[in-house]
Amino acid sequence: MPEPVLEEAQRDLFAMPGLGMSVLEMSHRSKTIIDMMEQAEADIRTLASIPNGYSLLFLQGGASLQFSMVPMNLLSPDGQADHIVSGHFARVALQEAQKVGRINVAATTETQGFARVPYQEELELDPNAAYVHFTANNTIFGTEWKTEPDVGKVPLVADISSNAFSKPLDVPKYGLIYAGAQKNLGIAGVTLVIIRDDLLSRSPDSLPTMLSYQAQQKAGSAFNTPPVFAIYILGLVIKWVLQQGGLPEMARRNQEKAQLIYDLLDSSEFYRGHAMPGDRSTMNVTFRLPDEELEQRFADQAAAAGLTDLKGHRSVGGIRASIYNAFPKEGVTALVSFMREFERTQG
Ligand code: PMP
Repeated sequence: MPEPVLEEAQRDLFAMPGLGMSVLEMSHRSKTIIDMMEQAEADIRTLASIPNGYSLLFLQGGASLQFSMVPMNLLSPDGQADHIVSGHFARVALQEAQKVGRINVAATTETQGFARVPYQEELELDPNAAYVHFTANNTIFGTEWKTEPDVGKVPLVADISSNAFSKPLDVPKYGLIYAGAQKNLGIAGVTLVIIRDDLLSRSPDSLPTMLSYQAQQKAGSAFNTPPVFAIYILGLVIKWVLQQGGLPEMARRNQEKAQLIYDLLDSSEFYRGHAMPGDRSTMNVTFRLPDEELEQRFADQAAAAGLTDLKGHRSVGGIRASIYNAFPKEGVTALVSFMREFERTQG
């Protein structure tokens, strides 16, 4: 989280300036909260240059519920959709979607240990698919799509949970974009959905209202009580990103930060990067040491030096440095110094 956001939230937690009431106490029907939600939406539209013809939704259930809502809304009973499987959450998205309807795997890099995303020429796309789903950044394996897959006229659906607003986003290329907020957008509890308006009419009337994009859009994301505090934090984070210079500046900083670690990996015989160089993530840098015992010692000694949470996801092991938008360059520099010293003394 950006520190100025934490400071502002801390101030408003007891009482919003001039209102004598905490943001935690306000009705979601109050003018303050309605204005706050509208401002958050307006700021997101500015930040990501979202054109008219797209709606923004603030939903609950995390990115994981989108794995189900996308097919429930966009896939008809006689249709099929394509999924590109490039990592752990892409695989979960596939499994969840398969519970709803017919899904083809257009490509998977599972046999390559998800060390890269599929090449364009590997994609077996159905021109009549209801949509193509892909995962823009593979949080656990540390790979990222540098350009969107070319899917022709078929609506492209992206899970951008772990690289949302880390770089410019070409919204007109997409039918639907979603992200759980807790990485680059704030805290868990709200999921941002950006949907092209023509897709709203696909929501079947038979869907439970809470699961219908169309119903949620009609209700202004307030069919029930929205997660006001999470949206408030999201609004502060978006304002911070705008103040920093927007998405081009985020991209510049993220590239600079990630490159510091990748340069070290490339110059070392001791550390071995997991992702193939062309597909490296700027958000999650994954690497291995010569053996698991050294990896454990690395994580323990790093934690003792104040560099915490470096162990890779339990499903893949290794080391993972998650360096989201708000993570400062100084933190990356400290990690790189620690890595050099660890290699010198233990390598
Ligand atoms: N997709 C990606 C790319 C993720 O990184 C995550 C969470 N780490 C999820 C989906 C699941 O998100 P949530 O916990 O909001 O359901």
